[in-house]
Amino acid sequence: MEVKSIVVNEFGAPEVMRLVERQIPEVSPDQVLVKIEAIGVNPVECYIRSGKYAALPALPYTPGTDGAGYVHATGSNVQGIKTGQRVYLYGSLSGTYAEYSLCAPTQVYPLPERISYPQGAALGVPYFTAWRALFHKGKATAGETVLVHGASGGVGTAVVQMARAAGLTVIGSAGTDAGRDLVLAQGAHFAINHSDTAKVLELTSGNGPDLIIEMLANVNLQSDLQIIAKQGRIVVVGNRGQIEIDPRLMMSKEISVNGVTLTASSALDLKTMHSAIQAGMEMSVLNPIIDKSFSLEQAPEAHTYIMEANSAGKVVLIP
Ligand code: NAP
Repeated sequence: MEVKSIVVNEFGAPEVMRLVERQIPEVSPDQVLVKIEAIGVNPVECYIRSGKYAALPALPYTPGTDGAGYVHATGSNVQGIKTGQRVYLYGSLSGTYAEYSLCAPTQVYPLPERISYPQGAALGVPYFTAWRALFHKGKATAGETVLVHGASGGVGTAVVQMARAAGLTVIGSAGTDAGRDLVLAQGAHFAINHSDTAKVLELTSGNGPDLIIEMLANVNLQSDLQIIAKQGRIVVVGNRGQIEIDPRLMMSKEISVNGVTLTASSALDLKTMHSAIQAGMEMSVLNPIIDKSFSLEQAPEAHTYIMEANSAGKVVLIP
C-alpha cells in the first residue's frame, strides 16, 4: 500500500519539504506502527529543516516527533499496546509528518477519549516541556507567582494550565489582544504585553514574580533579572540569539537561572511527565488548544505560520 509522507532531501527554506508516496513501513518485532490522524508542528522542526540547529539528522529525513492517531500494527515482542488503541506520540523512529509513523513502544502513550486527535498532537513536546520547565527545573510551588513570558503558544498555554491547577498566581504575556484573551481563558489571573514589565511589578506589589518561565530569553533575560523577586528562579525554555545581561543582579538577589532541554529527560522524567499530563487530561484540567490546522502537503505554510508572531495555541497538520 502506498502512503504519504513529507521528505526533506536538503536543508533550506520551508519548500524543501516535499510530499511523497512510498510503501507503508514494515513493523519489526520491537516496533509499533501508528496511523497518524494529526501532527504537532514545533518551532524546533523549523530550525532543523533550515539546517541551523546544533544536532541535524542525516538526509533525507521525515520531520516530526509529535502526533496522535491509533495503533495500526504492533511487532511480535511488543506488549501492553493494542491494535486500534488511541495514542499520542512523543518521539518517532520514522518521523511524524506522515500518514503512518514507526515508533518504539516507549514513544507511544494512551490518549484519553475526551482528547481529540489534533489535541493529542499538541501534547508531546509542548506539554512535556511545560512540565519539565515548571516543576522539574522551576520547582513551582502553590502560593507562588509565576510569569509565563510567552504564554500564548504551544508551550505557554500548557504552562498556564498546569500552573493554575497547581495553585500558583499566573501572569501570562502575549503579543496581541486575542493572545491575551486566550491566556486568560487558559486560567491566567492576569495577561500582559510581553514588554510590560512595569505591570508585572504593579501586579506583584513591587516584589516581582517568584518564577519566570521564559520563551524568548535573548530579548527578555535582562529585564527578567530586573523584575524577578529576591531568590527567584528563571527557567529558559526558548532562545533565538544573544543578549547582554548584568550578572550583578543574579548575585545581589540570589537569582537562579536554569535551562531546559526536553531531550535530556530521563526515562523516569518521561514517566513522571506523562503520568501527570494523563491525570490532568482525565480530570479536565489540561486541554490543549489548537490555533490552526493545515493539510500534510501544506507543511511549508505551517512552518512559515509558526515562525510568525501572534500565537493562539498549537499549529497542527492533518494528513
Ligand atoms: P510557539 O507556539 O510558536 O509560541 C511562541 C511564543 O513566544 C508565543 O507565546 C509568542 O507570543 C511568544 N513570544 C513572541 N515574542 C515574545 C517576546 N518578545 N517575549 C516573550 N515571548 C514572546 O512556540 P512554542 O512551541 O510555545 O515554543 C516556545 C519556544 O520554546 C520556542 O523558541 C521553542 O523553540 C522553544 N522550545 C524549547 C524547548 C526546550 O527543550 N528547551 C522545548 C519546546 C520549545 P505572541 O505570538 O503572542 O507574540
